[in-house]
Amino acid sequence: MTLHPHWGHGPVLRALARARLRGSLPQALLIHGPPGVGKQHLALWLGQLLLCPSPGGEGPCGSCTHCRWALRLEHPDLHWHFPLPRPEKASTPEKLADALEEARALRLASLRENPLQPSVSGEARAHYLAAVRLLRRRAYLQPSRGEHQVFILGEADALAVQEDASEAANALLKLLEEPPPRTTFILTSVQPGRLLPTLRSRTTPLHLPPLSRKEVAAFLEEVAGIPEAEARRLASLSRGSIGRALGFRRGNGEDGPLEQLRRAALQLLEAALAPSPAGAFRAALEFSPRRARDLADLLDALEELLVELAEASAGAPEPSPAFPVLRWNGDPRRVAAAAEKVWEARLLAQGNVNPQLLVGGLLMELRQILGGAPAHCP
Ligand SMILES: [Zn+2]
Repeated sequence: MTLHPHWGHGPVLRALARARLRGSLPQALLIHGPPGVGKQHLALWLGQLLLCPSPGGEGPCGSCTHCRWALRLEHPDLHWHFPLPRPEKASTPEKLADALEEARALRLASLRENPLQPSVSGEARAHYLAAVRLLRRRAYLQPSRGEHQVFILGEADALAVQEDASEAANALLKLLEEPPPRTTFILTSVQPGRLLPTLRSRTTPLHLPPLSRKEVAAFLEEVAGIPEAEARRLASLSRGSIGRALGFRRGNGEDGPLEQLRRAALQLLEAALAPSPAGAFRAALEFSPRRARDLADLLDALEELLVELAEASAGAPEPSPAFPVLRWNGDPRRVAAAAEKVWEARLLAQGNVNPQLLVGGLLMELRQILGGAPAHCP
């Protein structure tokens, strides 16, 4: 099975295809936009475009050997790196690098088998120094089959969430400062503001906007084969992102992973906004005292709810009628300060902290920042 063709974003694709024909594509790009909107997919398409020897005004030819390899995620000169969970048994840097390569190969095999996977994994993932060093060694080798090689670093934000973060970012920075010839680097990021400014300044930004609700629904029906009514429901929750819509897809009688995370995050937010602090303590105690790292996705969902809270208090309509959020009448700027605390907690969660203390402390901070204004659920 191949990855499905790129969906939507026609004007962006055509502009990139024309730049490729003129030979004016930058050597280092930073694709940014909302989660699940297709940034890594676009990076793969761009990789195919660069490796295809006979591209046209609309993009890669789609039928040559290079295109077929790229579509099957098997092109030896198209290197796709994404954040991975830390392997359990890796005592030395060499063993860690091997274990990460093995995990990457398994993930690629799983994506070949089933390309329509939501972006939520429930596990903490990062780009480790060992993996960035391996990428750097490869980048200085010659392309193995074609004229060019392409390195994709998906979710580059995940460089910032681990113990050797600054070393990993600096290793990448050195590579971008003196990029080897015939090599293109494509980074993707949800929040480019959280990348090192020096990394940002070495890359050309490319914003990928959300798709329209109609485009998402059409994809879900035509490509994913989801019945019309369910496709419409998922599209209404998607915020213009296919990866996000898939995260709300029900399976085996259970809600989708994003729906579950959203409900859990909503409980935390309600506990933080409740009149008595007792609920916040109770909520914190429900977490297992082990593995704070697994809180990452939940904290992301909480941050997203805070953004919606700010939008709602500023008078924006709810993202979807199927999607009620808390009502809150406070100053949206206070929500921004609260979101910053959630991000700090997310960084702390990468270390050896007790999740109960982490969540308890965070909820108390949120109470302090957001407190004093009445809140209720519709
Ligand atoms: Zn081709």
